[in-house]
Amino acid sequence: MKVLERSFVLTPQDILEKYYGYTEFRPGQKKIIDQVLHGQNTLAIMPTGGGKSLCYQVPALLLDGLTLVVSPLISLMKDQVDSLQDSGIKAGFINSSQDWNETRQILTAATNKQLKLLYIAPERLEQSGFMNQLQRLNVSLIAIDEAHCISQWGHDFRKSYLSLSSILPQIKSQPTIIALTATATTQVAQDIMVRLNIPTDNEVKTGFARPNLAFKVVKGQNKNDYILRYVKANQNSAGIIYAATRKKAEQIGSMLKKAGFKAAVYHAGLTEAVKKKNQEDFLFDRLSVIVATNAFGMGIDKSNVRYIIHAQAPGSLEAYYQEAGRAGRDGANAEAILLYSAQDMQIQRLFAENSDADDKHKEVIYLNIQSMVNYVNTQNCLQQFIVRYFGQDMDECNTCSNCTDDRQETDITVTTQKILSCVMRMHQRYGKKLVAQVLAGSKAKRVLELGLNDLSTYGIMRQQKTAQIEELIDYLTASDYLTLPDPQYPTLHLTELGAQILRGQNTVTRKVALIKSNSANPEDS
Ligand code: ADP
Repeated sequence: MKVLERSFVLTPQDILEKYYGYTEFRPGQKKIIDQVLHGQNTLAIMPTGGGKSLCYQVPALLLDGLTLVVSPLISLMKDQVDSLQDSGIKAGFINSSQDWNETRQILTAATNKQLKLLYIAPERLEQSGFMNQLQRLNVSLIAIDEAHCISQWGHDFRKSYLSLSSILPQIKSQPTIIALTATATTQVAQDIMVRLNIPTDNEVKTGFARPNLAFKVVKGQNKNDYILRYVKANQNSAGIIYAATRKKAEQIGSMLKKAGFKAAVYHAGLTEAVKKKNQEDFLFDRLSVIVATNAFGMGIDKSNVRYIIHAQAPGSLEAYYQEAGRAGRDGANAEAILLYSAQDMQIQRLFAENSDADDKHKEVIYLNIQSMVNYVNTQNCLQQFIVRYFGQDMDECNTCSNCTDDRQETDITVTTQKILSCVMRMHQRYGKKLVAQVLAGSKAKRVLELGLNDLSTYGIMRQQKTAQIEELIDYLTASDYLTLPDPQYPTLHLTELGAQILRGQNTVTRKVALIKSNSANPEDS
């Protein structure tokens, strides 16, 4: 551990007030800044909007040398640097949008100590020319933004981040390293720390809970109607609608425009000029709603976003929380709504199948998809579910659609036993669809070909549709009675909890809508 011997003339508190006009640090900021100023490599995990930037910018202003900020957000570097310069902070960036002359000017400014912060993309460090230049500079600190990109377990793995592990130790001035991310499961956090040489004790994790966000999962509704109604009822609020594909984003965008709303679209297929215009119109409240793919949002600092609607589920709970977290950064109440249909996950599986990821990485992608399926199928507190996924705990939020769900809890132990025993009879070798077909007594070709119609569990849930049984299986998976140990070939297996149900050692309940009936006793209908 390097301990900096000298004392600083200004304190972090002075910097906070002088450059940012804030009076107090947010949770975690002070601890992170102190660690960094003491030369300790640090991993900072804070939710979106938690104030990560300050954690490296304040030290940057106090340390002697240069702070290098590694960020994948090339399109935002200019905005980030402009806003620092507006606050009187000497900052610059180097990225592929500049010509050689501009790059040289920035490097000269860095060499002449005219810059405190320099933003670069990770690929830049792989260039030997740049590394040679860097070796002549006194780099005090390296901030790795969106650090989860270094982990193959993360939802946004980037190859260029991986080489940081071998490149950073080569930097002669031996800068302190601070890695920052909003989304890291325990596994991802460990991976980051190993790769960037950060001692386990130096992880600073602030609470993941966002008490001002109300999470909602909406299933089985016409998504377009829902969006139109919602946007109409919230016309005076800013919102983001996320779609999984450009095509879907365009379709929702034109639907909203046709209905007379101030809406625009943002995705990677648009020209830089259009993207910039739409982004700025949204930032400066000239638009009320922006329909976007995941190309939009990383690093965008608009504090008064009141709602985020996902018209389609993203490929992981990490991505979902990061996108949903863009609502309510100002601390006022906001909503995060996921409009779910089973096809959403098929789209994500298709993305995975067509991606060029290697087998190990594909497995992670499928695991991530399953985390999303589990989220939409849990009946526990949604926010608690997410926070637990990130390895923390919290009480129930009392505001999400599950906490406020007043439907009646029904005992479904017997139905569960039917499903679980069918999984066992099928030797835990098949997936959800086939199990549901067998239970429903389907005459599908595959069922008959495999002779599954001879099983004693064939047709024991005949009164239900295959899709309903599949949904029940999803619920049992989300509730940990069933599991899919091999994400690439999702065959259902019983968990220990599931085995207890089969042995009659426990019961299962589920909330179901009350049957509306004219008869005095709903059970009669
Ligand atoms: P993150 O990168 O974690 O998503 P940012 O660094 O963009 O978050 O910060 C989110 C917002 O919070 C910004 O507008 C920032 O200026 C503001 N902010 C950060 N720290 C503080 C603080 N200590 N007091 C008040 N506002 C803060």
